[in-house]
Amino acid sequence: MTAIVDKSVCTGCEQCIDSCPVEAISMNEKDVAVVDADACVDCGDCIDVCPVEAITLE
Ligand code: SF4
Ligand code: SF4
Repeated sequence: MTAIVDKSVCTGCEQCIDSCPVEAISMNEKDVAVVDADACVDCGDCIDVCPVEAITLE
């Protein structure tokens, strides 16, 4: 399992980056959040804070 960001939904608000306890999320060159699957510990915190429900655990 890892958190996955739907690129077509993400607004680039960066709230998920601030929520992640292991700093697994960064912004790509298109201002879309990207999760480092190797760093993600599946805590779900980013999913809870995302205002547009762009993140899922898959
Ligand atoms: S599920 Fe948790 S560890 Fe994984 S990217 Fe989201 S906040 Fe970070
Ligand atoms: S919280 Fe949601 S909308 Fe905001 S940057 Fe993260 S994935 Fe994108």
